[in-house]
Amino acid sequence: MDLMAKTAICIVDQQRYQVVDGMRLEELESGLRQMIMADFPQAHNSSFICSEHLVHYRLAKMDAMIENDYRQNDKVNAQLSKILANHTYRVVDVNSELEQSLTFGQRVADAVARFGGSWAFIISFVLVMLVWMLLNVLPIFSHHFDPYPFILLNLFLSMVAAIQAPLIMMSQNRAAEYDRLQATNDFKVNSMSEEEIRVLHSKVDHLIQQDEPNMLEIQKMQTQMLGEIQAQVNELRRLQPRRRRNQS
Ligand SMILES: [Zn+2]
Repeated sequence: MDLMAKTAICIVDQQRYQVVDGMRLEELESGLRQMIMADFPQAHNSSFICSEHLVHYRLAKMDAMIENDYRQNDKVNAQLSKILANHTYRVVDVNSELEQSLTFGQRVADAVARFGGSWAFIISFVLVMLVWMLLNVLPIFSHHFDPYPFILLNLFLSMVAAIQAPLIMMSQNRAAEYDRLQATNDFKVNSMSEEEIRVLHSKVDHLIQQDEPNMLEIQKMQTQMLGEIQAQVNELRRLQPRRRRNQS
């Protein structure tokens, strides 16, 4: 009677095993139990499965989990490479790009605008005007070529102003063009990085939400199996002295 209570029939091959050599379905976690019950509809919670067949089911479950993970990884990778392939935009260095496309006139305009907006220009201009006025006021030279009120100087000043204005505008147009190019470049680079970050995000999500729990679950299964092996070893150890005692 004692012996009968300690054996059970495996649901897979209908053989009789020691209870310690297997598990009841109610002791298994639900995913594994459902897999077994799908194969053996007549099984119920107190059905017994031997360790050997249980290992089969565990391996099958791990395989399914790993397979699924790989499939998910492939999907995310395909998504990423599709996005990378779609973005054929070449990131440009706006500065050098614009520098190369400059005409001679534009270069001159830039140089003049740069000089016109400097202290060196203001100081030298004031100095030139002062020298001009002194030359025409002080009695050092016998001939005053532009006497007070310096009408010729006035004419020159107007001419400089008239030429400087369009030069500055040219330079400003170029600055605006530069800004526009840079903004376009920034926008494209940003939208590209944004999309890549989005895919990376889903990759990390997948890693955290699926790969990691799956890994932990596989580890849990391994720990369970270790526990069962430990139980079997204990059982063997418990049986051994009795057997030895019987022999003597
Ligand atoms: Zn079995």
